[in-house]
Amino acid sequence: MEEVDHRALGHALDLFHQQDEGPGMVFWHPRGWALYRAIEGYVQARMQQAGFREIRAPQLLARSLWERSGHWDKFGTAMFSLDDDGHAACLKPMSCPCHVQVFGQRVRSHRELPVRYAEFGAVHRAEPSGALHGLMRARAFTQDDAHVFCAPAQVVGELVRFCALLRHVYEDFGFERFDVALSTRPVRRAGDDAMWDRAEALLAQAAEAAGLAPRIQPGEGAFYGPKLEFQLTDRYGRSWQCGTAQLDYVLPERLDANYIGRDGAKARPVMIHHAVLGSLERFIGILLEHHDGWLPGWLAPDQIVVANVGEREHEYASRVATNLADAGLRVLPDLRAERLPRKIVDARAYRVPVMAIVGAREAADGSVTLRRRDGMQATLNLDDAIARLREECASPAAQVELLRAALDRPLDTA
Ligand code: ZN
Repeated sequence: MEEVDHRALGHALDLFHQQDEGPGMVFWHPRGWALYRAIEGYVQARMQQAGFREIRAPQLLARSLWERSGHWDKFGTAMFSLDDDGHAACLKPMSCPCHVQVFGQRVRSHRELPVRYAEFGAVHRAEPSGALHGLMRARAFTQDDAHVFCAPAQVVGELVRFCALLRHVYEDFGFERFDVALSTRPVRRAGDDAMWDRAEALLAQAAEAAGLAPRIQPGEGAFYGPKLEFQLTDRYGRSWQCGTAQLDYVLPERLDANYIGRDGAKARPVMIHHAVLGSLERFIGILLEHHDGWLPGWLAPDQIVVANVGEREHEYASRVATNLADAGLRVLPDLRAERLPRKIVDARAYRVPVMAIVGAREAADGSVTLRRRDGMQATLNLDDAIARLREECASPAAQVELLRAALDRPLDTA
């Protein structure tokens, strides 16, 4: 199988481009942005189903916050800094400290825990220009960033829920296989050895309870805690690290997150950092290559091309396109004075999964002929066609029962 490059697909399918004035940045075109938004909407629904509340934090923050969190010391060179009227400020390279700010805005009781926040965190990182690679390695990207603030006794349960969520999401995107690694304490780290022993043991316990058997990656953890890292395998057998769950006792301490415990005394929550897809941009690159641009109906930037056979069906075809769009489908009308074979070639070039073709017969009896990628055709009346296409293009997030059952599964190992 010949590997495709997502950058070539991005150009051929008119999804996005990059240019010298914005190294490592992405200009999303309408079709690419439709794909981006479909993914975003899906993730939003899944996170909500998993009990997360979405928040939004600022892009630009005083450097002093990053100094307190420890990011300046560790990531300072990778952060875009600027002078804000005599005060040093940085574009956020991640959202974690901001989520602690939201958590810490009022007194929290142990009864509120776990508190779960999710954000489509737009982040900037000053990657060296030589390391940049299309969507896979960018300087501005969006993380599906989430943080759980919980009591120590809740950690394993939260991690098991996260693993269930992740498994569902990967399957929905057509990835059947993923591997898990447990990354342990790095050389440069915060926190004492007792903390690291405890955190690594909890992650291992959670992975086992979730039915996973992680391989150990010594020294690959974050400076504040160990990580579970999830690698997807694509159709070419390549693996991509996407999801991550990190256990953190350090940031709540440094930024003074606390709650009132059962005994009435102040207690420190544990913070779990996690992402399912990682960078949305990068995930789109992986997805495009994995599917060779032939995205499933719910993700396809244009789900249906409506094409008329001749000029006489122009008006009916235009009405079909409007009706499909009104039904919530992403429609690309092709009403040019071109011959049908040309229109079929062009729809394939854009990797549109379905064509709705209307000729004299369809216009006369109010039907459409649906033509699939493999050339299979079927003629249906318009209402039936709309119902069928809506069903085929529905986001898998509409199916909530399986996820719910997996999330609510009682935990026997905790
Ligand atoms: Zn985080």
